[in-house]
Amino acid sequence: MRKKIAAGNWKMNLDLQEAQKLVSEVLHMSQDEYQGEGLVMFGPSFPFLPSVVHLTKDHPKVMVAAQNMHHEPKGAYTGEISGAMLNSVGVSHVILGHSERRQYFGEDNALLAAKIDQAFSYGLEVVYCFGETLDHREAGKTLEVVRSQVEEGTFHVSGADYGQVILAYEPVWAIGTGKTATPAQAQEVHSYVRGLLTEKYGAEIADNTTILYGGSVKPGNAAELFSQGDIDGGLIGGASLKSRDFVDILKAL
Ligand code: PEP
Repeated sequence: MRKKIAAGNWKMNLDLQEAQKLVSEVLHMSQDEYQGEGLVMFGPSFPFLPSVVHLTKDHPKVMVAAQNMHHEPKGAYTGEISGAMLNSVGVSHVILGHSERRQYFGEDNALLAAKIDQAFSYGLEVVYCFGETLDHREAGKTLEVVRSQVEEGTFHVSGADYGQVILAYEPVWAIGTGKTATPAQAQEVHSYVRGLLTEKYGAEIADNTTILYGGSVKPGNAAELFSQGDIDGGLIGGASLKSRDFVDILKAL
């Protein structure tokens, strides 16, 4: 079954106390105000993962994701974090391929494919991000770019394992800019990607794959985006740092 998810990507923000406060507020508010089927995912920075896992352990509808992971299992990679490490602190998911990782850290589809395999070998599920830049969009290359990112990054995964992949369409021009894709622009790409999944894996797997939209999702635009047939929730940056906004986005699911 396709999941509905409000996933927060905190990026390099918050300290430990702020992180704990945010999680406690979201848990309280969502318990009081939201009875739906939607799931919450928190995406804290590495140092806060054990604490957030602990705070959320009695909440079956809450998941915790790391924001990145190294593609090797262990070794002389100073400053890096392995899948085994994430697994050992109780993290269930890892966000891979965020455009900031692609842009500032040179991550490409081949590396991300290797990271996905590494994540699976430690039982981690993956949120795989992809999306075009403004230049791509203006040159009419959106679907071509999206296709290569999804195919080269994830199509080595077997059909049996694809249930452990959540896709996140994040047009780069909409991330942190306040510019959101219109619901129609987002739906066009989501439906195209679901079509790619159908061609490769068949209708059942395509239909069961969660595809999130990310890019300046806010309480004011979430409901319309999430009402599109192929948009199954959001990957949320800025608005996930404010408990009120994040819970309102959850409620829009
Ligand atoms: C993100 O970081 O994945 C993101 C979508 O950020 P924002 O919501 O701030 O645009």
